[in-house]
Amino acid sequence: MTMLKINNLNVNYGRIHALKGISLEVEKGEIVSLIGANGAGKSTLLKTLSGLIRPKEGEIIYLDESIAGKPAQSIVKAGISQVPEGRRVFAEMSVEENIELGAFLRRDKAGIQQSFQKVYEVFPRLYERRKQMAGTLSGGEQQMLAMGRAIMARPKLLLLDEPSMGLAPLMVQTIFDIIKDINDEGTTILLVEQNAHMALSIASRGYVIETGKMILSGSAKELQESEEVKKAYLGG
Ligand code: ATP
Repeated sequence: MTMLKINNLNVNYGRIHALKGISLEVEKGEIVSLIGANGAGKSTLLKTLSGLIRPKEGEIIYLDESIAGKPAQSIVKAGISQVPEGRRVFAEMSVEENIELGAFLRRDKAGIQQSFQKVYEVFPRLYERRKQMAGTLSGGEQQMLAMGRAIMARPKLLLLDEPSMGLAPLMVQTIFDIIKDINDEGTTILLVEQNAHMALSIASRGYVIETGKMILSGSAKELQESEEVKKAYLGG
């Protein structure tokens, strides 16, 4: 079943044509990785999916419904939640308060408590530090917190913007293991990364974006073996 289908998406920032006719599909249950260098348009694509940017042209179909240009709030309600690049946690609030914010559109008290349990199960580290100010967490812990907050919205589709950014290799491995676990429990994932090696290691399929255009797509294996990908994104 198709969860997300993007067709000929075009986004402009004034005169800058940031996305040039992007098409992409995500099936229910998949991890799909979108790979690209700095400035390729990866964050722009995620922000457009989340309703933070209005596309100039193109279709975004999520669970058979068109969501292009809809307000961010209704997109979260429909089950898409984003973990932004650079985490963006609220530094002056506790871990617990940050997590709770992820449920801001929910009214089901009992369900919210269950989701809290779930977040603490996935991230025991956050439970240990629940009273700590978010700004004093390590980079990896802040990434966990941003992911925990997103899980509180009970997403069907989770959008992750460069979860490996600025993290030590061991922490990158931990975060990617957790992404795999979240997926195994039924959440579909669209992952945006510069770290092609890690991104393709957990994905079933991938896309490569360069200066706003999709230049390649295929199974993760095909992309890992592609000369173009090896040369440009896998360091050899
Ligand atoms: P990175 O990996 O560095 O985050 P990215 O692939 O996520 O890069 P985007 O942030 O989507 O890239 O940027 C795509 C292009 O759009 C870049 O050329 C960028 O300079 C431009 N751009 C992004 N945001 C704006 C903005 N608010 N106004 C004007 N141009 C922008």
